[in-house]
Amino acid sequence: MKRAGNSRAERPPGFTYVPSRSGLLRRPPSKVILHSDKIPLSRVAARFGTPVYVYSAIMIRERVRAFSTAFRGFPHTICYSVKANSNIHILRVLRKLGCGFDVVSGGELQRVLIPDRSAADSVVFSGVGKRTDEMELALKAGILLFNIESESELEALAGAARRLKRMARIAFRVNPDVPAKTHPYVSTGLQEHKFGVPISEARRLYRQAAAIKRLTIAGVSVHIGSQITDVEPFTLAMERVADLVSALRVDGHQIKYVDAGGGLGIDYESEQSAVSEQISSYAAAITKPLRNLKVHVLLEPGRSIVGPAGVLLTEVIYLKKSGRKRFVVVDAAMNDLIRPALYKAYHEIALVEIDRSADLETVDVVGPVCETGDFFARNRNLPALKQGDLLAIMDAGAYGMSLASNYNTRLRPAEVLVDGRSMKLIRRRETIDDLLRQEV
Ligand code: PLP
Repeated sequence: MKRAGNSRAERPPGFTYVPSRSGLLRRPPSKVILHSDKIPLSRVAARFGTPVYVYSAIMIRERVRAFSTAFRGFPHTICYSVKANSNIHILRVLRKLGCGFDVVSGGELQRVLIPDRSAADSVVFSGVGKRTDEMELALKAGILLFNIESESELEALAGAARRLKRMARIAFRVNPDVPAKTHPYVSTGLQEHKFGVPISEARRLYRQAAAIKRLTIAGVSVHIGSQITDVEPFTLAMERVADLVSALRVDGHQIKYVDAGGGLGIDYESEQSAVSEQISSYAAAITKPLRNLKVHVLLEPGRSIVGPAGVLLTEVIYLKKSGRKRFVVVDAAMNDLIRPALYKAYHEIALVEIDRSADLETVDVVGPVCETGDFFARNRNLPALKQGDLLAIMDAGAYGMSLASNYNTRLRPAEVLVDGRSMKLIRRRETIDDLLRQEV
């Protein structure tokens, strides 16, 4: 029988196993406990209940610094992509590190202005269907850049800018027709996708935009998809963007910014050992094609900043057998973390307290929702579990809570931010009153 291991599930410096030293000091520790920074996850669960998202501030800072280091020497701004995790306390941590933001709705814009109203001047507004009221909000706030995705959107923005008598800085989001080598649902840079304007039409559109009084052409933008682990598609896209920037300058446009989008992937299967090397090779892929262009690069990372910095803590509520199959029913479900159901995504699952002698069993970890797709793992080897055990679903910091829903009238989980020795509730668990209040 294989023995329970834990190394694959560790995500230093945010989440690491620490031997339990209770009892006689000389006795060897009987178990190891998964900690977030200095706090045992068992303590978080005891205090705030489960399911609960737990984030590590230290890990978020480390990842932002890895980006800053990799891009040092090249003028750049990290515009964290808010959709990955939009809790205002996370946004505050990022703002304190000097980050700007990539938003895709008026709601996200309002969020990023809460920690710091002056953040507006490093906000880029992306998205294929911005409404006029959202554009007006962004114009009033004075954001850095609108990424325009169609001719009709260009006209709508021009109208809004005229009405408010404000200038709007714009870039077109171009679709470079580059395959991103990722899940089809998060690949965005092919002609068949709804995103951006075809790169072949860009020069005409820039000419058209240049004739509009209240618009200032400021850049070119691209985003080819998400969870991209091979840097080659980034290079390809940037080469096409670099050619376009040169052509647009020949046409007389001032192109100050290249918005390189987000999309850098993380390793969901194991601890990512060489984060700084991965981010460095990404930086090289982005900056090499732009080397001689004297542009300021805007980066929109989401997942690669917050993904490994969060776990979803859940409790085993039932164990169940069906023929040879074993199920572990937990109190979290697809409404809390939809990635496995939506993309068949893999998430490492770690037992919070590991008794070193535990044997491994092959189980499906499932939630209580009435859908067969409500699972977190299938045929996974985990230490033999019992009711009340705590599990940490790893790498859940991005597209976890931000995609959570109330399906089955389940209440969305609480969120806790751990920073060294402190833990803070940054979103209380929803109550049934919260939900029913809206049903007028
Ligand atoms: N920028 C844009 C325009 C996006 O659509 C996305 C997400 O798909 C991102 C940035 C963030 O991507 P990621 O979280 O993969 O870095």
